[in-house]
Amino acid sequence: MIGRWRIGDIEVANIVEYYGPTHQPEIVFPEFDRAVFAQRENELPPQHWYPGMNRLVIGIQLWVVFAGPNVIVVDTGVGNHKPRPAARMNHLNTLVPLWLEAAGVKPEKVTHVVMTHLHGDHVGWNTVFQDGRWAPTFPNARYVMPKRDFDYFKELSESGWAGDSSFADSVLPIVQAGLADFIDGQAEVADCLRVADAVGHTPGQLNFWLRSRGETGVFSADIFHHPAQILNPAWNTAFCVLPDEAKSTRLRFLDEVSSIGALVMPCHFPPPHCGFIRRHGDGFAYEPAT
Ligand SMILES: [Zn+2]
Repeated sequence: MIGRWRIGDIEVANIVEYYGPTHQPEIVFPEFDRAVFAQRENELPPQHWYPGMNRLVIGIQLWVVFAGPNVIVVDTGVGNHKPRPAARMNHLNTLVPLWLEAAGVKPEKVTHVVMTHLHGDHVGWNTVFQDGRWAPTFPNARYVMPKRDFDYFKELSESGWAGDSSFADSVLPIVQAGLADFIDGQAEVADCLRVADAVGHTPGQLNFWLRSRGETGVFSADIFHHPAQILNPAWNTAFCVLPDEAKSTRLRFLDEVSSIGALVMPCHFPPPHCGFIRRHGDGFAYEPAT
C-alpha cells in the first residue's frame, strides 16, 4: 500500500487507498473499440486487465513529496465515511491515516496539500469527520487548488448538478477554515512543483512537475485513468468534462513526457502505480516503474 520513489534528491511516496478490477472498458471509455484494444492488449502489464471479468484494474492513490522542509500531499483520494454514489467509494473505512504515518507523514507536519483537480476522488482526505463536522485533516497545511475548478464545481454544487457531495464535505470546509489558496496563473507552488495546464478532464485540471539533479517526475492527474489510454490516446473517459481539450492535452503530454523520460505519477494506475512512457512506432508504449 506504500511505495517509495526518488526524483534526483527528492523523495516521493505513494499511498494506495485501494485498487481492483472495477471498470468495464466500454463504460469507462465511451469510444472503446474492442478490436482496436485487442491489437495491443498483450502489451498491458500483468494484473492491469482481467479479460475473464471484462474489468480494467484501476486504483486511487495519494502522492507525498518530501522536499526540504516541505511535506506536500498531492491529491487526497476518496476519504473515509463519505457518502458517494459509486459502491467502490461509498463510506470507505481504510487505514490511509496509518499508512501516511508509516510513510513518515504526520498530519500536523504536512505543509501543503496540492490538488490537480477537484473531482471527488482527489479531495476526500482533505477532511475527516470530527465532533460532528468535516474538519481539515492537515491542520497546518495550505490547501492549494485550481481556481477554475473551484469556480466550476462551486457552480455545480450550488445548482444541484454535482455528481456527489464532495465539494460540500471536502472542499468548502477547507475554504471556511481559511486554509485554501487558489492557483490562478502561478508558475510554481510549494517551492518545487512547476504548474502546467492540463485542461480537458476538468476545466481547471493541472499537472505538477518535479525536477532534481537532472531527473524529472510529473503528477499527471487524470490525463489517463489506465495505461490502455497510452496505447489508445484518442479514448477519453466518461468523466472528461471537455472531451476535445482532454484529447489534445493527452497527446501533447505523451509527446512531452516521452521525449523527457519523466517518471509519470498518475492517480489511478494499477501496480506499480507509476511508470514511463516511450515512443512506439507512430504511437506510445507504457513501461511500469521498477
Ligand atoms: Zn480521478
